[in-house]
Amino acid sequence: MTAARVGGDRGAIPKSEAVRRAARMPDYARARRTFSWSGARAQMSGLPDGRGLNIAHEAVDRHAATRPDAVALRVVDGNGATVEVTYSELRRRTNRFADVLRGLGMCRGDRVFTLLPRTLDLYVVALGTLKAGCVLSPLFSAFGPEPVAQRLRLGEGRVLVTTPRLHDRRVRPVRDGLPALQHVLLSGDGVPGESDASSLAAALAGADEEFVIPPTDPEDVALLHFTSGTTGTPKGAVHVHEAVVAHHATAAHALDLGADDVFWCTADPGWVTGTSYGTIAPLTHGATLLVDERDFDAERWYRTLAEQRISVWYTAPTALRLLARHGAAAVARHDLSALRHVASVGEPLNAEVVRWSYEVLGTPAHDNWWQTETGAIMISNYAAEEVRPGSMGRPMPGIEAGVLERGPDGRALRGPAGVSEVTAPDIEGELALRAGWPSMFRGYLHEDERYAASFADGWYLTGDVVRRDADGWFWFAGRADDVIKTAGHLVGPFEVESALMAHPAVAEAAVIGTPDPVAGELVKAFVTLRPGWTPDDALHDELLAFGRRRLGSVAPREITVAPDLPHTRSGKILRRLLRARELGLPEGDLSTVETP
Ligand code: ATP
Ligand code: MG
Repeated sequence: MTAARVGGDRGAIPKSEAVRRAARMPDYARARRTFSWSGARAQMSGLPDGRGLNIAHEAVDRHAATRPDAVALRVVDGNGATVEVTYSELRRRTNRFADVLRGLGMCRGDRVFTLLPRTLDLYVVALGTLKAGCVLSPLFSAFGPEPVAQRLRLGEGRVLVTTPRLHDRRVRPVRDGLPALQHVLLSGDGVPGESDASSLAAALAGADEEFVIPPTDPEDVALLHFTSGTTGTPKGAVHVHEAVVAHHATAAHALDLGADDVFWCTADPGWVTGTSYGTIAPLTHGATLLVDERDFDAERWYRTLAEQRISVWYTAPTALRLLARHGAAAVARHDLSALRHVASVGEPLNAEVVRWSYEVLGTPAHDNWWQTETGAIMISNYAAEEVRPGSMGRPMPGIEAGVLERGPDGRALRGPAGVSEVTAPDIEGELALRAGWPSMFRGYLHEDERYAASFADGWYLTGDVVRRDADGWFWFAGRADDVIKTAGHLVGPFEVESALMAHPAVAEAAVIGTPDPVAGELVKAFVTLRPGWTPDDALHDELLAFGRRRLGSVAPREITVAPDLPHTRSGKILRRLLRARELGLPEGDLSTVETP
């Protein structure tokens, strides 16, 4: 299979001398040689008197002590009004919430769930929970009652913080089935005087603003994150306080983040990116984190980048594709001169979009790869180095990434026979990571066997198929489950999608395999169009021909123009749902679908 070579052929985007000099990680080769996790650990301040390592201390208290008046959070509410919260103020507020939990009798390891939009309370609750030694589990605020109940039940949540509206619609209908849930705290206005929930504001007002973080072992559980559910039922990944070492180091290396930055992470707070980089990492660096409660709107997002003087921006391919679709005229109206670094995660970033970003935003979008399980960025394009459009980049310092040989059935070899690493360039296989980095997940909740089965011979097996080129860059082919076998070829859906997206009419594409008696599977594509294009027969035939010219024998045999494509709430195209619908199979777990 010739995964993702499409688009990579048109060459790398170089970095100027000035950009290289200004970047925080000047030289990739040297960083990989000199970096060690123990060195990164030494950058953490640790709890006073050697009482351990606590994420919230690194994110809040250490800066409150040295730069109390620096702005930690700049929160824009639903009406566009802005509030700034300094590190010392954030310290006091998070102390109060930790004290609230103590008052409720919560102990080390008890689970606190959030079902909240991006408001100041979300950050206070998240970091206060970690201070108290409890485990934070954030949920997407758009979840319906059943997904909320399912995760609270699995995670045995004892405390839930949500809003009155979400409580009415999503929690009250399922509350009877949640015996472990002892306390529901409601954030915001309109808190009713009922007995099944109480006011967060009142609780905070009555709490102490001084709180001593209890001793925290770096291996104490800190976070419980559910995966996006792209391939099936979401899994609960367990992370520990030690993870902060990786959050901090990777934010410097992959996001070029430092104390003088204004950082905007657009990920939903219910997704791992919203915690690792939407909360923890920018604060451990002492940066200013922009929090905007409002959802995507192309014009407003450009305005936010300009007016808030965002210097580092972390977003997702769908958002970049929508901005590109919005047209270049919108960009010309805004001053994006503060924007130094743009990064993207969650899905493959098509080469066309990387080039669009370079031309229009003034810096190429830097693709990087990681998972809920890895806790932090593992593979990335770097600020100080050339960008290879269509590639996810190279392994982070401290990370060893390998490509594992696949068996004749197309799956990676595993089990007692062990796994064999591919060392020759340009051969595809399953992406694996040498186990042992700080933010590696420590378990799947209640699924010990599944956890054990994701490791072989000291490697963590990611379930993604990649190609590594001769220079050590990684190219995403697809999820092992999504790879299509047609007439003896293995086809990565991303390769086909990227090729189709090079056509000016195509805004987004998703590719699946459909059963065929002769070829095994046939490649079928779904595309959405940019504004101004009509889905007529002529365009349809043109797209088929365009695919054939670019891809030859692995081109799609069938293309359907759709008004939109199903996505997860974390912005990923749900190929499994398209395939199920196409084949008339059960649709499976839909809890994370954006518009079911
Ligand atoms: P589930 O595990 O429940 O099926 P999921 O894998 O989508 O859901 P996440 O942990 O949110 O849950 O997503 C990680 C996956 O997203 C990766 O394994 C990969 O397939 C995809 N991904 C993330 N970043 C990139 C990227 N830069 N390029 C390509 N794919 C990416
Ligand atoms: Mg996954």
